[in-house]
Amino acid sequence: MNPDTPIGQLPLVGPVYIKKLKKLEIKTAEDMLLHIPSRYIDFRLISKISRAQLGETVTIKGEVASIKNIYSKIGKKMQIAEIKDSTGQIEAIWFNQPFLINTLQAGTKVSLAGKINWFGRKKALISPEYEKVLIGRSSVHTGRLIPIYPETAGVSSKWLRSKINDAFSKTKQNIEEHLPNSTLQKLDLSGLVNALEAVHFPKDLEEAQKGRERLSFDELLFIQLKSIYRKLAWQKNRVAHKLDVDRKQIAKLIGSLPFNLTSSQKRSIEEILSDLEKDIPMNRLLEGDVGSGKTVVAAMTAFVSFLNGKQAVFMAPTQILAEQHFITLKQIFDPFKLRVALITSAGIKSDPGRTDIFIGTHALIHKTANFDNVAIVIIDEQHRFGVEQRTHLIKKSRNKTYAPHVLTMTATPIPRTIALTFYGDIDLSTLDELPAGRQPIKTWVVPPQKREKAYEWIAEQIKKDKIQAFVICPLIEESEKETMQQVRAATAEYENLKKIFPDLKIGLLHGKQSAKLKNKVLNDFKKRKSNILVSTPVVEVGIDVPNANIMLIETAERFGLAQLHQLRGRIGRREKKSYCLLFTESKTQKASIRLSALQKTLSGFELAELDLKLRGPGEVFGTKQHGFAELKIASWQDKGLIRKAKNIAEEAIENPKKFSKLLKKIKTHSVAPN
Ligand code: ADP
Ligand code: MG
Repeated sequence: MNPDTPIGQLPLVGPVYIKKLKKLEIKTAEDMLLHIPSRYIDFRLISKISRAQLGETVTIKGEVASIKNIYSKIGKKMQIAEIKDSTGQIEAIWFNQPFLINTLQAGTKVSLAGKINWFGRKKALISPEYEKVLIGRSSVHTGRLIPIYPETAGVSSKWLRSKINDAFSKTKQNIEEHLPNSTLQKLDLSGLVNALEAVHFPKDLEEAQKGRERLSFDELLFIQLKSIYRKLAWQKNRVAHKLDVDRKQIAKLIGSLPFNLTSSQKRSIEEILSDLEKDIPMNRLLEGDVGSGKTVVAAMTAFVSFLNGKQAVFMAPTQILAEQHFITLKQIFDPFKLRVALITSAGIKSDPGRTDIFIGTHALIHKTANFDNVAIVIIDEQHRFGVEQRTHLIKKSRNKTYAPHVLTMTATPIPRTIALTFYGDIDLSTLDELPAGRQPIKTWVVPPQKREKAYEWIAEQIKKDKIQAFVICPLIEESEKETMQQVRAATAEYENLKKIFPDLKIGLLHGKQSAKLKNKVLNDFKKRKSNILVSTPVVEVGIDVPNANIMLIETAERFGLAQLHQLRGRIGRREKKSYCLLFTESKTQKASIRLSALQKTLSGFELAELDLKLRGPGEVFGTKQHGFAELKIASWQDKGLIRKAKNIAEEAIENPKKFSKLLKKIKTHSVAPN
C-alpha cells in the first residue's frame, strides 16, 4: 500500500468513518500517519496480579476466568470480569459496555491496563484499556506508552490506534525519504520511517519527542517551500498598467484630511507607493490593529490609480462595511471629483460617468462590471474571504501575464514568526500605533454576581453622558457564517435587555436580517436614535460608530483573545473614555489568566503572542476564526526549528537536484495562493 492510498482501502474503514475522518483532515494513509498523538499514557509497567499495588498504573496479562453483566443500585449496567494469572486473581470493571461479555468471554487471553483502585473492599481495575492477546502480534493498547490522539465524535483514540497500526504496517516499506541523508545528519533529524514509528510506537518519551521533531520540521519546511513557490509564481507577473506616483497630488489629498497621519500610516503609504512604481505587481499585506486607520491608507493607494486614469477595486467582507467604506471614501475624495461605485448583492449604486473606484462585497466577483482598466485591487479584512474568493477577484481584473497591484488588509495581529513563515511570499506593512488622542479602553471582567450592578452602571452612563453601548451575544459555535442558533441567541438577548432597560431604545443586528433592515438598525445607532445595539459576534467587524463607548461581551471566555481584542476595537474611537465589560461565568484559572490579560494590555500583538502560548496556534489562528492555516505538528514557539526549515527551504530552491525528491513531493501537492 502506498502512503497516498485513500483511507477507505484500509480494512474496516467504510463510508461512515471516511466522513468522520474528514473532520480530522485525514483522507489518505499518509494523513493518518501524520495524525500525531497529543499525549501518551504510560502502561509500560507489566505486573503480576499479586504484585500490583494500589494506585499503580499497570498492565496485567492474564485470562478471563468469568465475566457478567450486572445492574448497579442506580440502574447502571456494569460488566465485572475476574481475571487470573499464575499469581492470583483481580476484578476488572467497566460501565455500560454490555457487548464486552461477548468480546471477552471466559478463557480469553487478555491484556488489561489501568490504575489499580479499590472497588468495594477489593483491589480492582476500573474501566481499564483491554485487548486480546494474539500470538505473533504485539500489543497496541496496553503494555507500552499508549498514544492519545486528537479525536472527533465517533472516532476514539483506541480506534485510531488500531488503524494507525494497520496503516503503518501496510505502508512502511513504501514510505520514501524525501530529505537527503546529509541534511538529516547535519540537522540531527530522524529518518521519516523511524520518526513515524517513534511517534506512534515509542519506547520512551525522548524517542517520541525526537520523532515529533522530524515531523514538525517537515511541516514547517513544506509551508515555507510553498510560500517560496507562490512568490516565484507571483514574480512572473507584470503590471497591466505602469503607474506614476504624483507625490504633489498625494500630499494635497493628505493635507485635506481632517487629521494628521500617524507615522506608521506615513511609512506604510510610502512602502505602498514605492511598490506601485514598479513593473512587478505589488503583493502586500497591511496589518494594523483595530482602529489603527487602515482605510485611509487604502484610500491613498486607490488614489494613485485614479491619478493615472485607471481604476481600483476595493472589496470588504460585509455589506455594512462596504457601505461604510463607500461613504468614507466619497468624503475623502470629495475635493478631487472621484467617481465611486458601490456593488453589493443589493445592487449597484454609482456616480454618473465612468467609475474610478469600485467598492463592494464579494458581489464584486459576480456582478457584471467593466474591470478592464483595473490597476489596483484592495481586499479589506482579507482573512474573512476564502482563498478562492480572493483569487477570483484578482483574476477578474487580470489577464494571462498582467496582474493588478494587490493590497490585502487585516486587523488580526499576526506574530512575526507566523507572518514570515506563512506569508513569506507577501511583503508586510504594519500599523503599530493608534492615532493620537485615543483614550485607553478600560476593561473589566464581570463575574455573575456583579451582572446586575453592571447593568445599573451602564444605564447610568447612557443617561448621564449620552453615550451608546454595544452588546455582543454569546459565541455559541465557531463558524464563519452566522448560524440560526446564533441569531436566536441574539434575539433572545435583545428581548431580555428590553426588559432590563425599559426606558432605553435598543436595536438588534444580525446576519439573517435584510440588507435594508441592517442598514436602518445601524444608521439609527449611528444617528443616536438607539442607545444600545445588540449584535451577534459575526456582524461586528470593522464598523465605525465613534459615539459608542461601552461594549459588553457575553461568555467572553469562549472567544479567542485576538477576537475579543478585535471586538473591543469597535469602541474607544474618540477622545472620550471607553469601557469594555467582559461577562463570564467561567471560574477556571486559564479563563481568568486570559481575560485578565485583556484587562492589562491594549496591544493586539502582545495579546496574540500570549494567546498563542496559552491556547496553541490552532485556536488563535484556526481556519474557523481567522482563515489562517494552522500548524498540526510543529509549534510556533519553536523558533530554532522554524529557522532551520527556512534555511533548508532556501537551499532546496538553489539546489534542486540534491532535493529533487522533496521538490517533487511539494509540487504534487498543489500550491494554493495566499
Ligand atoms: P481600521 O484600521 O480598524 O480599519 P479605520 O480605518 O476604520 O480603522 O479608522 C478608525 C477611525 O480612526 C476612523 O474614524 C478614522 O477616520 C480615524 N483615523 C484614521 N487615521 C487617523 C489619524 N491619523 N488620526 C486621527 N484619526 C484617524
Ligand atoms: Mg477597517
